Amino acid sequence: MLRKLKPDIFAATLLDIPLDELKKRGIKGLVIDLDNTLTKWNSCEINPEIYSWLKELKEMDFRICIVSNNDVGRLRGFMEDLQIPYISNAFKPGKSAFVKAMQLLNSGPAKTAVIGDQLFTDILGGKRLGCFTILVTPLSQREFIGTKIMRKIERLLLKKMLQI
Ligand SMILES: [Mg+2]
Repeated sequence: MLRKLKPDIFAATLLDIPLDELKKRGIKGLVIDLDNTLTKWNSCEINPEIYSWLKELKEMDFRICIVSNNDVGRLRGFMEDLQIPYISNAFKPGKSAFVKAMQLLNSGPAKTAVIGDQLFTDILGGKRLGCFTILVTPLSQREFIGTKIMRKIERLLLKKMLQI
């Protein structure tokens, strides 16, 4: 059970993700979560460092799709500006949004990494499809009440994971 949930990489922040290593692994497509991964929960702002990081990804020829269980429309301006496609109301860890994202990215599971801050949505969903998975630390403590409850379970599992 724990192995099914264990991310391939833990990164403190998005900026700490080893992009060259992803390249070496043949990763071409990145499915990135929104709330508490790219922005604070329900925020309409992307901080400048993350904005530059997204631009760097594009310069490195990674293809990006934002996949969120929330509504991404609040950031439509940013996404259009960066020409990044997005999927709202994704029902992660359900498979369908990941499948759709990979179609948009024109990449299969072996060439796709899923990046997010939650084990039970981002990581579990990515692993169900056989994608490479990267867990990042949530950007803020504020979040959906349902998420807060899951966090307690997540913290226990993460502790155990670090032992295997
Ligand atoms: Mg999230």
